[in-house]
Amino acid sequence: MDAWFGIDIGGTSVKTALVDSQGTILVQQSFDTGDNRGENFIAVRIAQVLSELKDKLTKNGQDNLEVRGAGVGIPGFLDLDTGMVAEAVNLGWVNVPFQRMLEDQIGIPVSMENDANLAALGEAFAGAGAGHRVVLCATVGTGIGGGIVVDGVLHRGVNGMAGEIGHLVVQREGGVPCNCGHNGCLETLASATAIVRTAREQQAKGKLPQDTPIIEAKDVFDLADSGHATARQVIADAAEWLGYGLSLAAITLNPDVIVIGGGVSKANERFLVPMQRAFERYSLSRVSEVAHVRAATLSNDAGVIGAARLAQQQALA
Ligand SMILES: [Zn+2]
Repeated sequence: MDAWFGIDIGGTSVKTALVDSQGTILVQQSFDTGDNRGENFIAVRIAQVLSELKDKLTKNGQDNLEVRGAGVGIPGFLDLDTGMVAEAVNLGWVNVPFQRMLEDQIGIPVSMENDANLAALGEAFAGAGAGHRVVLCATVGTGIGGGIVVDGVLHRGVNGMAGEIGHLVVQREGGVPCNCGHNGCLETLASATAIVRTAREQQAKGKLPQDTPIIEAKDVFDLADSGHATARQVIADAAEWLGYGLSLAAITLNPDVIVIGGGVSKANERFLVPMQRAFERYSLSRVSEVAHVRAATLSNDAGVIGAARLAQQQALA
């Protein structure tokens, strides 16, 4: 049986899995990078994990497996023509020829892609976007990542920037600085980080309890659930901005599904429902009528499943 090795490199950990041709995870394993984020360490460790994963399957009696290729998701800017990671800020990598380094270590073809794009490909293949033609994914976390999959294939744009909806400048004046260098980007208004920042501002004004630490978005959702109107308003505002941003993306793409990932996607009544209402209000009705809004279903596995799918597509191409 053919299997594909999916790898998802994050700022603090590396997730890996062997995945079958239908997108089902056969076995998986993660390791922490800690302070050790050097490209050599990570490539060598990935090779060790691959043999550990194969051993696990053999012990389970699945020894008829051929791992035909690997896909790797990287949080950064990539040059796919040369297999170089141009820059991955969270890893401290600049101009790293990671594709070749990893191929040297694991001895099978490696395909590389931006991590948000692979999460989108994973959801489109085996998650909430499965069976849909034009899939727009938005992952709401520290920032807002995005990806577009059309007829099963990732739409990258000419240099991999397609679907970066977190950096739609939606507030033209007076916006908060974004780490991309602009002000008023969608992710400064609708990400989990934005929810925390706005809630803390309200707390400083005395509009939220002083004795409740607000560390993550969940703290704001908890305050909303316990009846604090200001917390509800902070969340409703973020949902409104996301719905507006998605309406801009949707008129360009005319998707049949919009998949929302990240922690906020679990808050259906508090976040997804008002977001969808805003989306419909700002969209052309013929666009919103066909665009189903769904919560992501693969959670943290979307990246490795998307990476495995990319490897499979490259092998068949
Ligand atoms: Zn930005």
